[in-house]
Amino acid sequence: MDCIFCRIVAGEIPSHKVYEDDATFAFLDIYPAARGHTLVIPKAHTTDLLSAAPEALEAAVRTSQTVARILHNVLQAHGISIVQNNGRAAGQDVFHYHVHVIPRWEGDKAVRSWRPGETDHGVLGALAAELRAGGGT
Ligand code: AMP
Ligand code: ZN
Repeated sequence: MDCIFCRIVAGEIPSHKVYEDDATFAFLDIYPAARGHTLVIPKAHTTDLLSAAPEALEAAVRTSQTVARILHNVLQAHGISIVQNNGRAAGQDVFHYHVHVIPRWEGDKAVRSWRPGETDHGVLGALAAELRAGGGT
């Protein structure tokens, strides 16, 4: 098995576990953006958002909420950022689906955001129509 996160689930390489249930595993990121930065993964290998089974996504979101509550209660986080990268172009480095649950405090710069672009309702309307025609599948 060459997937590092599958090896973590199997206990073949060590991790700092935060939470575990039948379907998911949550552990501290070894290069944390903030104190308490946790990764939530489905135990069964799946690559990314596009290919994952809905059940795996549902389980990961539920566990993300559990972890968010833990970070809020234990570390008194003021807020929680969820980051989830899919594909190399989006910055995905580990190709086992994972959700970053990152505690935030007022004034921190832990997560960088995008630069807002221009509003053009003509462009947005045409684009939304094109996307709706794609059918959501
Ligand atoms: P991404 O760039 O979204 O694929 O995120 C991958 C994350 O996995 C990075 O934030 C890494 O710091 C983290 N990571 C890589 N290897 C390990 C490991 N062995 N234990 C914990 N976190 C890891
Ligand atoms: Zn895996």
